[in-house]
Order: sequence, then structure tokens, then C-alpha cells
Amino acid sequence: MLELINVTKKYVANSGETIAMNSISLKFPDKGLIFITGKSGSGKTTLLNVIGGLDNFDDGEIIINGKHFSSFTQDEYDSYRNTFVGFIFQDYNLLPEYSIEKNIKIANELQGKVTSSKLIAEYFEKFNIKGLENRKPNEISGGQKQRAAIVRSLLKDPEIIMADEPTGALDSVTGIQVMDTLKELSKDKLIIVISHDLDLAEKYADRIIKLVDGNIIDDVTLIDKEVKGNIYEDDNSIVVKTGATLTASENETLLKAIKEKKKLNSVENISIRKRQKTKEIVETNTKKDITLIKSKMKFKSVAGFGVKSLKAKPGRLVLTILLSVIAFSVFCLFDTIAAYSSSRLVKELLVSNDYNAISLTTDYYSSNYNGETLRVSQEEIDKYSKKFGYDFINWTDAAGKVV
Ligand code: ADP
Ligand code: MG
Repeated sequence: MLELINVTKKYVANSGETIAMNSISLKFPDKGLIFITGKSGSGKTTLLNVIGGLDNFDDGEIIINGKHFSSFTQDEYDSYRNTFVGFIFQDYNLLPEYSIEKNIKIANELQGKVTSSKLIAEYFEKFNIKGLENRKPNEISGGQKQRAAIVRSLLKDPEIIMADEPTGALDSVTGIQVMDTLKELSKDKLIIVISHDLDLAEKYADRIIKLVDGNIIDDVTLIDKEVKGNIYEDDNSIVVKTGATLTASENETLLKAIKEKKKLNSVENISIRKRQKTKEIVETNTKKDITLIKSKMKFKSVAGFGVKSLKAKPGRLVLTILLSVIAFSVFCLFDTIAAYSSSRLVKELLVSNDYNAISLTTDYYSSNYNGETLRVSQEEIDKYSKKFGYDFINWTDAAGKVV
């Protein structure tokens, strides 16, 4: 329904150029709750603004229900933004001169639609902002503004809801209420949520897309799978099916878990969340020959340098290469505990894989490895540059700093 093909968006400022979206390709389904996560500055808001038609992009194409953005007339563009998409903005976007109620009605009024007073009252009650109808945005708290913005987008009843940190300013109870509402709506609408709250994503998302410096570095689909049997146990808790008659061995497991002081829960249906890579990541990465993939290794000091990016060959090799880099690096962690040699590792990486490019960093990492802080020196980089005929060029982070 909504598809991005190699969409690139750059910002040019005095301090330099920032690639906020680096040839992003993505397919969104018609419905479901999709989380976009990533650190501050990774390009989440830019992605949402671009797909919501609020911001332009430099390269690539966006297709909505078979129609290309580039072929939109101004009217179609306006109608896409006004009726098709509903936003819950990070900074609420409430008009300061209007009351909260007027703010909520105005989006519909602009389209000549009347908002049902009954529904408004219902939502004000549900989101605990009843009584604030006639206040101006500067007369209510951040959390209340957030809830007003959510009510506004729900009343607009758009095809797609896009929410930028919708629970950021909320207390946990209201946060859960908002997420429960979005989850309910996602049964027949596409809901795209930006959040850096990974617990929230794990709990609610049907799919989690992770951004780093304008690149998609992870795309997983989460599926609830029903568990056979009457109990399910993990490291910290045990869940029992409500009203079930336990078998002897289930009984034993339960007693053992209680002795171990595990948290006990009882639910109607036991299901667990299973994760799998969203297939599209393979498809989309094949469309462009340059894909920056940042290492996700926790042990950044594993080799004293980060394999920051790979210029992969076209084809499905990207994923294979990423996996092989991770596997290789983990192998190196164990292999080199006794005898670390950054030179050896660089050499092996260069000769044993058919990468088109590899990047090294001279950064110090704060984490230690055997008490030392490790890095690749500029001399080493120069040496390998000469020896293997690689050209190492400076690579900058999102803020334009040379890394
Ligand atoms: P996020 O929402 O993940 O925090 P953004 O999409 O806001 O990230 O920003 C992505 C990158 O683009 C950042 O490096 C940010 O500094 C830069 N950026 C965002 N908006 C602008 C702008 N209007 N002008 C210049 N750079 C911008
Ligand atoms: Mg943002």
C-alpha cells in the first residue's frame, strides 16, 4: 500500500551535509502497528515527515496505493496530507490561539466534515482530558497536549496514523492506554509509531524497524504464537493458563518455579512473541549498490575497530555479508582473547572476504578489552591501504564529524 524505493533526503546546513535518509526502501502493509526505533538523530522524524508528505525528498520514489508521489497534483498532495494521513506530532502541533476543542475539530472542519460531539466527549473522557475543552494549549500540561493531539488524530479517522513519540510526555498509565488504543486501531489501519522505548516496541509492535544514521539496520516482524500446554516458563516468570488442570509434570514445574520465586501470572491464552527478519529487508537492499551497514556488536572493542560500513555488491549478499561479519567478529572475540592482534584481524578481514569496501575507525572506545583500550592506528590504516590497494576515505557521522 505504501512503498518507498531508494528514498534519500539530505539536509544542507553551514556545518555540512546530513544524509537523514540514505536510500531507504521499505514496504508498509495496509494494517498493523509498526515501530520505527533508533537513537536521536537517526532520521526517524525525517522518515515520518517524508512519508506523510510534510517534507520533500531528494531522490527515490514513494508509491501510495499504486500512485507515485511524483505524479501527484498539488490537490492530490494536499488531500493525501489532510485526509489520508493523521499525525500525532512530537511537539503536538496545536494551534495556540484556539481552544483544545477547536483544535480538535478544526482538522475535520477544514475538510467540511462535522466531528460528532458525542465522540469528542467519549474520547475526552477516555484520555482523561475532560473539562479542558475550552482551555488554550498553553494552559494545559505537556501530557494533556499529547493526549489532545491523539484525540485529534483519532477523530480525523485517517487511513494511516503516524505518531512521533506518542507516549513521550505521558505517565505510564496513559502511555499504556494510548498504545492499547493504537493497537486496537491497527487491526484495520496502518499505524506507524516512532519510539525509542524498546520495551514498548517489543510489547506492542507487529514489526520493528531500526534506523542508524539514516539507514535501516534491522527490520524484524513479531508474531504472537500460542503455546501448547498449560504453562510457559522463562527466566523470571511462569505463566499458567487460567482454570487449566495441570498435568503432573506441569505441576512439578510450577512448584519449582514458585520455590525459585519466579513471578506467577495467569492468562486465558498463553502466547509468546516470536521474532523473525522481515523478508523485505533482503529485497530492498538489493536495489542499490551502496548500503551502509553499521555493526551492531556490543563488544565494540572486540577487534579494536568497528566494521562501520560495507559497500556491498548488488544482490542478496548484503545480509549474508552482515551475518558473516557478525559471526566472524564474534569468532574473533573468542579467538583473540589470548592473543589480540588488530593487524591480523584487519588482514584477515581484507583477504578472506570479497568486500568491495571496508571501513575502519581510529576512535577510542570507552569499553576495555583485557584492561586495554584498543584501536587501529592511522599508521596501520595507511599500511593496509598501501598493501591491499584500498582507498580509505574519511567517513562522517550524521552530525558531519569525521569518524
Ligand atoms: P530523529 O527523529 O531520529 O531524532 P531527525 O529525523 O530529526 O532524527 O534528524 C535526522 C538527522 O537530520 C539529524 O542528524 C538531524 O540533525 C538532521 N536534521 C533534521 N532536521 C534538520 C534540518 N531542518 N536541518 C538540518 N539538519 C536536520
Ligand atoms: Mg525525532
